[in-house]
Amino acid sequence: MGGYISALFVFVAGCAVGSFLNVVRYRLPRKKGFVRGRSECPACGARIAWYDNIPVASFLVLGGRCRSCGAAISWEYLITEVAAGLSFVLIWLEFPPAEALAYFVFASILIACAGIDYDLRIIPDKLTVPGAVLGIVFSVTLLSGPSRAHSLLDSVVGMLVGGGSLLAVSLLYKAIRGAEGMGGGDIKLMAMVGAFLGYRLALLTIFIASVGGAVVGLLHSRRATEGMRAALPFGVFLSPAALICLLWGEDIVGAYLALLR
Ligand SMILES: [Zn+2]
Repeated sequence: MGGYISALFVFVAGCAVGSFLNVVRYRLPRKKGFVRGRSECPACGARIAWYDNIPVASFLVLGGRCRSCGAAISWEYLITEVAAGLSFVLIWLEFPPAEALAYFVFASILIACAGIDYDLRIIPDKLTVPGAVLGIVFSVTLLSGPSRAHSLLDSVVGMLVGGGSLLAVSLLYKAIRGAEGMGGGDIKLMAMVGAFLGYRLALLTIFIASVGGAVVGLLHSRRATEGMRAALPFGVFLSPAALICLLWGEDIVGAYLALLR
């Protein structure tokens, strides 16, 4: 029973963090301050009262519309809140508290990056570079606990392999196609993922994201003529793939190795 109550509390807290991540998602790339400013409707600029700004619940009560002007609030913002709530619960159930705390930060940065990449096709260095540094710092503090035995070396090697392998793919793509394939934002995002997850799960992240991107790209190119590259930015796949690897990556690697035997 106590387990359910704490999981519910973590879910609600995660949704609240997701609500803050929406503010980051909207304001950070537009160079607006987001620590002191109050939330406002992007359509009419009306300030959003606290009771209309309760994660998930307000969206449902208001029917997804602004109370002052009736403009539709993007359901994509609801996804950020629910994604944060869900990933916080899953992390909470999987890891001891100190490690869960580090992974809450990791998941938050990933979700913000995915949202901004989806909106604007950029991944801000302001999120990924401090994220990579935190991954290294956590490897000798919060993540030095029993469940993963995540060492400083794992973290540094993970960062180099995570970022380096996407850099190599990007250079190769440029040499063959003569066009920019992957942005520097994806490379730095993967450097952060490697710093948190180590090199094996970083590579698995890239693999899962590539498969996901290829499937969505194929579905998309059947409808549109602009082809696979236009479908969705890669960061939208890398972030959830990294969360999947955080939660179930070791199981996936283990199952794969057992298949080989
Ligand atoms: Zn409005």
